[in-house]
Amino acid sequence: MKILLNNSTLFESLRPFNDLGFVPTMGGIHKGHLSLINKSNKLCKKTIVSIFVNPKQFNNKKDLKSYPRNIKNDLKILKKSKKVDFVYLPKFKDIYKDKKKSKNVLLKKDKILCAKFRKGHFEGVLDVMNKLTKIINPQKIFMGEKDFQQLFLVKRQLKRIHKTKVIPCKTIRDRNNVALSSRNLLLNKSNLIIAAKIYKKLVGIKKIIKNKKNISSFLNLQKKELKHNYNITIDYFELRNINNLKISTTTKNSRLFIAYYLNKVRLIDNV
Ligand code: AMP
Repeated sequence: MKILLNNSTLFESLRPFNDLGFVPTMGGIHKGHLSLINKSNKLCKKTIVSIFVNPKQFNNKKDLKSYPRNIKNDLKILKKSKKVDFVYLPKFKDIYKDKKKSKNVLLKKDKILCAKFRKGHFEGVLDVMNKLTKIINPQKIFMGEKDFQQLFLVKRQLKRIHKTKVIPCKTIRDRNNVALSSRNLLLNKSNLIIAAKIYKKLVGIKKIIKNKKNISSFLNLQKKELKHNYNITIDYFELRNINNLKISTTTKNSRLFIAYYLNKVRLIDNV
């Protein structure tokens, strides 16, 4: 596993390879990231993982400051996996030397879900993904369905600009079915118990709405109940079509999307 600390080492090291799988991360490596790495390792000859906490995608300074960082531990886990050929640890200037902001097409219809509640977030994500793709030039990029809207927007954008294919990967959960996330490190035991209960409730609601006529008013009621029962703030709780992210009135091809704050930590999930 070779560690690439700047762009010139990266260019030099990657030059011989034309079947490269890329797993972009912000560190806090967990089994969710490892599942992306496993998939890349299966489908590509070489796998590169990046660890870069991109300040430009944080709409909240406190969130950026408290974001879990532990490079030493991350490298240990990646090395142990034996599935990673390169780890790219860029500095801010490696990414943003190219001052030109990429053309990010966030349309009016995209300003839903997290785009509505985290102003500028996806502009930052799309910009860094364009820049990383340009620098690394991978054949495939592996991204998780946990961050479904991110996957949706990046896939659309990269299809337009680069030849790179974005491969979706299933959400990995802990033994209580809480979606793994680096932010879970900021939760205590009782928070995690609540997150597990919320997941269970979402699965239950999804089953019930199969036979409901007025799904949106039912979801509104359930949203109030979730808020009240678990003492959480909810940004959104909506049923949307997975192919176009439009509000859905049927469970076919649809998922329940939620973003909520637990102990001031923002969590997202979809079921
Ligand atoms: P992050 O480090 O949180 O920016 O995530 C890096 C990549 O890992 C993104 O493509 C995420 O969607 C993906 N990811 C994060 N958590 C999970 C999970 N629990 N299961 C699968 N993929 C995940």
